[in-house]
Amino acid sequence: MRVGVPREVKNNENRVGLAAAGVYELVNRGHEVVVETGAGVGAGVTDDEYRAAGATILDSADKVWEQADLIVKVKEPLEEEYERMREGQLLFTYLHLAANKPLAEALMERRITSVAYETVQLPNRSLPLLAPMSAIAGRLATQVAAYHLMSPLGGSGKLMGGVPGTDEAKVVVIGGGVVGEQAAIMARGLHANVTVMDVNVSRLNEISTVHNGDILTRYSSKLDVTELVTGADVVIGSVLIPGKRAPKLVTDEMVSQMKPGAVLVDVAIDQGGCFENSKPTTHDAPTFKVHDAVYYCVANMPGSVPNTATKALNNATIPYVVKLANSQGLDALKQDSALAKGLHTYNGKLYHDGVGEAHDIEV
Ligand code: NAD
Repeated sequence: MRVGVPREVKNNENRVGLAAAGVYELVNRGHEVVVETGAGVGAGVTDDEYRAAGATILDSADKVWEQADLIVKVKEPLEEEYERMREGQLLFTYLHLAANKPLAEALMERRITSVAYETVQLPNRSLPLLAPMSAIAGRLATQVAAYHLMSPLGGSGKLMGGVPGTDEAKVVVIGGGVVGEQAAIMARGLHANVTVMDVNVSRLNEISTVHNGDILTRYSSKLDVTELVTGADVVIGSVLIPGKRAPKLVTDEMVSQMKPGAVLVDVAIDQGGCFENSKPTTHDAPTFKVHDAVYYCVANMPGSVPNTATKALNNATIPYVVKLANSQGLDALKQDSALAKGLHTYNGKLYHDGVGEAHDIEV
């Protein structure tokens, strides 16, 4: 099979679908890999390194999309990429279609077989291709929160962990999955007072036990969310209901009661966001203010650490890319139930319940 790796076009997205190690794995198994020139530069992979691993470098994205049977990307295709998608082509990338109806329609219209990283799911319900990026986004969420608490950035001027004799910041993390736990670990590492909220009680037990009660936990009922959010210095939103739009858990009313300069980081923005006022922002202009609170809603947070993120992503995706290439696509989905859960569109139809529900499209 011919596998194509175009350069990412999203604002400040410097990750790349496959680094040299992935190219080598595919070429070693008899596949061809075509890479757009410069695709890996932002992640620290040069054209020469790709060539050494066996790839052919092409001078435009158009040529990569035109020649490849399987396109391996990082982020969802943007509008400017829609016309490059060819009927029957296989696309393996993050899609987040529940928050993007135009793309869902474009994939169906163009009869693309699309498999989304974020819904590939193992029998234990874990999401192996979301987890590495979630871990990065969680760690970054605390970094950006600590940064934006500083008054020149619009924050309250509170140091995350304070110093002895002063109070530390109160950090509330809503959603105690991979993002939430990593955010909590980093915030606790900075000596903040940290509470993780979730509706999954066994998850709260796990977090409390693993961290020796150092990270506090609270059930995520509306009343508890209201109480904790209104008293917080930092709120990190990291809920996920796989394949669905995020529930709006933090309302405008709650934020109006927060202290001036509170910071809200909505990591779940790629699923529509879990704060009422959230709207996607970019690395160039990452924040906006509502009621004197600072919102950070960058949808591709790991894009700011492309070196780490490309390696972490590839470590997880390469086995699946190899399976898709070895079996010419659809057979891989029949053989691997985890991969099959990633299927979103095929032959003009939608195959994902959550996305169908979000946009009222028949599945
Ligand atoms: P996860 O499945 O590991 O965790 C989600 C958690 O949310 C689960 O523990 C679940 O029980 C909990 N949850 C569901 N409903 C809840 C509610 N009402 N209240 C409290 N908790 C609730 O998911 P994850 O990997 O941690 O990802 C979280 C979100 O972050 C996803 O939307 C993901 O797409 C997003 N994400 C964003 C970026 C970015 O750059 N912005 C990067 C990576 C991941």
